[in-house]
Amino acid sequence: MEYVSTRGSAPALDFEHVTLAGLASDGGLYLPRAWPRFSAAEIAALRGLPYPQLAAKVMQPFVGESLSPERLLELCEQAYGRFAHAAVTPLVQLDEQNWVLELFHGPTLAFKDVALQLLGLLFEEFLSRRSDHLTIVGATSGDTGSAAIDALAGRAQVDVFMLHPNGRVSDVQRRQMTTVLAPNVHNIAIDGSFDDAQAMVKRMFADSEMTGRFRISAVNSINWARLMAQVVYYFAAALQLGAPERKVAFAVPTGNFGDVFAGYVAAQMGLPIEQLIVATNVNDILHRALTDGDYSAGTVTPTAAPSMDIQVSSNFERLLFDAGGRDGAALAEQMRGFEASKAMRLTNAQREGAAALFTSARADAKDMGEAMRWAWENCGEVLDPHTAIGLHAARAADIAADVPVVTLATAHPAKFRDAVERATGTRPHLPARVGDLFAREERYDELPGDYEAVRAYVAGLATPSA
Ligand SMILES: *Cc1c(COP(=O)(O)O)cnc(C)c1O
Repeated sequence: MEYVSTRGSAPALDFEHVTLAGLASDGGLYLPRAWPRFSAAEIAALRGLPYPQLAAKVMQPFVGESLSPERLLELCEQAYGRFAHAAVTPLVQLDEQNWVLELFHGPTLAFKDVALQLLGLLFEEFLSRRSDHLTIVGATSGDTGSAAIDALAGRAQVDVFMLHPNGRVSDVQRRQMTTVLAPNVHNIAIDGSFDDAQAMVKRMFADSEMTGRFRISAVNSINWARLMAQVVYYFAAALQLGAPERKVAFAVPTGNFGDVFAGYVAAQMGLPIEQLIVATNVNDILHRALTDGDYSAGTVTPTAAPSMDIQVSSNFERLLFDAGGRDGAALAEQMRGFEASKAMRLTNAQREGAAALFTSARADAKDMGEAMRWAWENCGEVLDPHTAIGLHAARAADIAADVPVVTLATAHPAKFRDAVERATGTRPHLPARVGDLFAREERYDELPGDYEAVRAYVAGLATPSA
């Protein structure tokens, strides 16, 4: 399997190199040159497989020669063996039409674990072949940082530098990062906002002196391997609900457009998906883009669903490329315009391509609270704020009554205890697997919101590339 960049000029790479690279060298994102397709009979044959086996079967065409089928299965068994539920991503019924797919049974209580547990193992596997060292630098508003640290802690050939905005992540989120004391994990509390931290990370990726000395890479959802791992649970849910004979719709709480793009990939592979419902909060750039083609960034409004408080959704570029005719040169031009003005219009081809599968809905604080209360009072289900926004969109969508609608539950409600308690009056308990989080020792360094300070810190601790 060969991968090409959405901006058309970076070299094509195989799966192993795409995984280690993260971003393409022309600033674009990698996608398979062509989508692998499963026939209806091949999809039917996946029914009933345990999750790790399903994962290996769905991912094998993307992995190609980079891993043998036996090795891929071993890695899937290792990654998903760490989940607290035997089904890995259990499906729960709410009413005749609505279902919730619980993606939060991993070590850090958000769906990011599904992809990052595997990505940690893939990094280790591919690095061991070349005795090189990887320096992961990332910024987090909470969930990505904890999932990446859990997945990479203690791995010999990787160092992790994770920046979070000092005092602006929840206690649970901070402790999930700072109580990991492995020597290759470096938590940095930055004086400033998430955007400030993110800007410093971007600057480091473009700092040729740093990239010349260290093999710097990314664990956010620009990394193709993350999206690939997320395709699997669309298959898992649809198979349980009657695929390939029956179509299924999905409602996805969306920020960076990674999770819902994985659903698009599943559809391209032949999974019969009726519709993908993109759920946003009041930070609704994607809702505007999908309804009238206006992709223009405003300022971020903080909400109770912070992982969706995003202005620019990196992975939307992958959809624009694929739905718009795969013209890398034209897209590079379009993206340059967007980067300069923070606004662009979708082309007709992009709009029509997206409309074939996507719809969208926007939820404000009231909609979110109502969805959370509805699930609690009618179904006894406690949802986190992100999932509640997804459910609001699912219930607002115009889907035929005989098509099941699956809302992706992206975080455990205990991760957002205060917001859940405000809406429902019930305070979710942290599950046993993180139970002593508040008794553990914390370790992190505080740095001023100054690039030179962060750069000196990373350069002083990271291992140079071979
Ligand atoms: C990251 C995250 C999202 C958004 O997912 P994207 O792939 O960025 O669209 C939604 N909910 C939760 C809880 C998250 O952690």
